[in-house]
Amino acid sequence: MREINVNRVTESLCEACGFIACNCSPDIYEALKHGAEQETSEQSRMAMDMLLKNAEIAHEERIPICQDTGLAIIWLTVGQDVHFINGDINEAIQLGIRKGYTGHFLRASAVDDPLFNRINTKDNTPAVIYTSIVPGDQVKIELMAKGFGSENMSRVKMLKPAEGMDGVKQFVLETIKMAGPNACPPMIVGVGIGGTFDSCAVMSKHSLLRPLSQNNENSEYASMERELCEQANLLKIGPMGLHGKTTVLKIQIEQSPTHIAGLPCAVNICCHACRHAEVIL
Ligand code: SF4
Repeated sequence: MREINVNRVTESLCEACGFIACNCSPDIYEALKHGAEQETSEQSRMAMDMLLKNAEIAHEERIPICQDTGLAIIWLTVGQDVHFINGDINEAIQLGIRKGYTGHFLRASAVDDPLFNRINTKDNTPAVIYTSIVPGDQVKIELMAKGFGSENMSRVKMLKPAEGMDGVKQFVLETIKMAGPNACPPMIVGVGIGGTFDSCAVMSKHSLLRPLSQNNENSEYASMERELCEQANLLKIGPMGLHGKTTVLKIQIEQSPTHIAGLPCAVNICCHACRHAEVIL
């Protein structure tokens, strides 16, 4: 049994919150650069150049890429031979987010009740935590700071199995079209196919963590990702909704087995500020 002090989790998350808020990941920066080169109209080229400049200033001056510093989402993957010591792991995670957001002066965007009072918790907690247990003695913590302009444009649909591939593609493209400029394009689009009503939504969000250079391991899903990306870019929503060629930077699919009677599909849209980090302990 390997012992891990929960303070390490808190400190790692605190640092990661500050880092991802101000640093556009290299794969997204490269995708934005590539997109800028494809744009032909002056306004869409200008929009892409502004996004690139914004990322550079954020990195150099250590200021957030966007004022919407996102809701913290955590995937905690724990090896079954790990024993956390010195406290409650869930509290340690929330403390890491609290210290990360307040210590790095990031906007607090969480409210304590979704409906009745909506009082700001003032430290961006609570984070949403998904936990899974795997073999081994390591701990993997994946952190995402999810902006809600794009989150609000995300959708889940329980398709009929007979709707098949065409039904899934239609739903994905329809969701991107409906999102339009509201999702702060260019977008990165996570798609979850299979599982259940709830698990396909989690898959769609988790797929957003994959590096943009990495396609789905299954060649059929990988070619579906490419095809959907090409079709989405024909929608001409464009950067910041200014009708250019770069509506999406990438479409990322995760799939899993499902029931014989169902074909769940979720589309989780993320903006160009797709901020995430991974910590291994
Ligand atoms: S959706 Fe993204 S770019 Fe738009 S406001 Fe939120 S974090 Fe910023």
